[in-house]
Formats: sequence, structure tokens, C-alpha cells
Amino acid sequence: MRMIRRFFSVMLLIIVLFFALNFSWTHAGVAWLVTKPACPAKLIALAKKDVATLFGSARASPLWVCATRPLLGLDISHGTTRSALFLPSVIVIGKKGPRRNVMAHEYAHAELAARTSALYALIPTWFDEGLAMQVDYRRAYARKALARYLRRQGAEKPRLDELTSSSRFYKRGKARLHYAFANCVVKNWLRSKGEAQPLGLIRDLGRGVSFPVAQFRKFEQACQSAR
Ligand SMILES: [Zn+2]
Repeated sequence: MRMIRRFFSVMLLIIVLFFALNFSWTHAGVAWLVTKPACPAKLIALAKKDVATLFGSARASPLWVCATRPLLGLDISHGTTRSALFLPSVIVIGKKGPRRNVMAHEYAHAELAARTSALYALIPTWFDEGLAMQVDYRRAYARKALARYLRRQGAEKPRLDELTSSSRFYKRGKARLHYAFANCVVKNWLRSKGEAQPLGLIRDLGRGVSFPVAQFRKFEQACQSAR
């Protein structure tokens, strides 16, 4: 009896620790569980279609929360995707987010997380965001906008090696530039591959190959001087 009790105590501790360590997923997961504000099914279907075109198929089954008002402390303007190992991603869409661009963008994050599983942690933020931008056609992140941000920026150019971590990528005042830059780099890389699918890269990561940043260097250079 004591053994059984100890076993369940340890299991409970492991579960509590898992959700505590994945706090940002847990937060969004609780919002989904408690409130479940529905996202428009039609927009989800369109987002799924866009992601299937990018990846060849859409395998992820994210949980959607459409929160037009702050929800349990989650105050999202457009969208956010929270991922955790072994669990479906939770996509929280804010009041400016119920649009095809934003929802497809978030779905692309969930798809990459589902396909890479534990390896998702090895994906540089610029690639994750750049890939999501391939189904997100907002003008603020297009090539013209990039050229404008670069002009404003002067001699200082964005560099992939500095945009690997989320803290640098989402830096206040620079995020738009970084999104537009990542969009440009990944778009050119996909075009150069002949087929618009990132599956080869994901397959290689699964085989233990490290992230092939060298493949992106020439596009990094080209996008640093986008006009
Ligand atoms: Zn994103």
C-alpha cells in the first residue's frame, strides 16, 4: 500500500513539475480549458490549408483560444503559440488576430513544433518566425517594409546569429525589422530549394544534423541590403 502511495506521489510530483516548467503552455492551456472561446471555424480551415501548402500537409492539431479581451492574465494583441513536449500547441488569438494571416502564422509555429518535437528547442527563432511569415502576407513584414526599416536603421544590419534567441528577436523597437528580415531570408531560401517545403531540413534535424545555418548565409547578405 505504502509503495503504491509513494508511486502516485512521485507521479503527481512529476506531473506538477512538468506543467510548472512549461508554465507558458500551462497558462494558455488553462485558458483553453476554462473558457474555450471559439475561433471562427472557417478561418481555422483557411489557416490549415495555408500550412498544408507550406509543409505538404498539416499534422498539428492545436487548441485554439480566441480571446477578444484579456483572459486569465493573457493579453494578446494578435496571436501567440505556446508549445510543450508531448502536448498539442495552444494558439491564443487576440482581438486583432482573427484574420487568415495571423492564424496561419500561428498555425505554422504549431506545425513546426509538432514535426520537430523535442528538436523544436534547437530551431533558431529567426527560422521559426521566418517560416511562419511564409503564410502571413501582412505588408508590415514584406520586402518593401524591410527596405524601409533598413534605411531607418542606418549602418547597423540585422544578423542571423544575433536573432537565434527569442529575447533578441522580439527586442522592443526592432521586432518588425526582424520579422521582415527573417521573412526575406527564409523566402529566398525556400525559392532556392526548388520546392517550397521545409521538410528536408526537419528530416535532417531528426537525423542529428545540426541546424544548417550556412545554407542561409547568402540570403542573409542579400536581405541585409534589400531595397
Ligand atoms: Zn510568430
